Amino acid sequence: MFGSPGSGKGTQAKLLKESLGLAHISTGDMLRERVASGDAIGRSVASLMQAGELVPDETVNRLVEERIEQPDTVNGFILDGYPRTVQQAKLLAELLVLRPVRTIVVHLVVDYNIIIARISGRRQCPACGTVYGINSSAPNTVGVCDKDGAKLAVREDDREEVVRERLRAYEQQTSPVLAFFKKSGIPCWDVPAAGITPQAIATGIEALIRKERGEAA
Ligand code: ADP
Repeated sequence: MFGSPGSGKGTQAKLLKESLGLAHISTGDMLRERVASGDAIGRSVASLMQAGELVPDETVNRLVEERIEQPDTVNGFILDGYPRTVQQAKLLAELLVLRPVRTIVVHLVVDYNIIIARISGRRQCPACGTVYGINSSAPNTVGVCDKDGAKLAVREDDREEVVRERLRAYEQQTSPVLAFFKKSGIPCWDVPAAGITPQAIATGIEALIRKERGEAA
């Protein structure tokens, strides 16, 4: 699942995980868990994440390498937020070479101005982690989590100055990964991912993947 911050990778991955029976591997979530636990990895990446910068390739590579060994990945998995540099993409290619998997890149394409509006409207439940947006994914009551009633908060790195840095990191370090995928012969689908509900976007992606798998729609 490829796309800029705020393009909806996490939302799409969660919907597709359910409908397609795939594991969801989010490096952002894994890193935030480490930061919350305060372990050695978490302590080493906290300030970089807070500044909106990428964490070192070796750190995320190690997390992903361990994660894809877990049994829930046998029927396939969705990588969300990884690879984010060409170096990470090269390691991933090595990790996958011995696995019977086919790789498809789903590129969520969203206009820059919509990205800014989405991220500035995004709120998260500090208790259960649910993310709310504006429009279709807004909570029932403004500022309150539908699931547990906790007061919603702005994600630490969704503050405006940090968002600017995340978008800069995306442009400079992550967008070249798309060219790398294409050069490696991996199919890349450009999926327009704004203006319709997340569910409708997911339904479209699901149909494409089922077709690739040779399943009936
Ligand atoms: P978003 O895609 O909206 O920026 P994520 O939750 O995917 O949010 O990532 C949050 C932060 O975690 C990033 O800004 C970065 O600091 C770190 N991070 C996540 N994945 C990677 C990765 N593959 N490589 C380096 N840093 C990462």
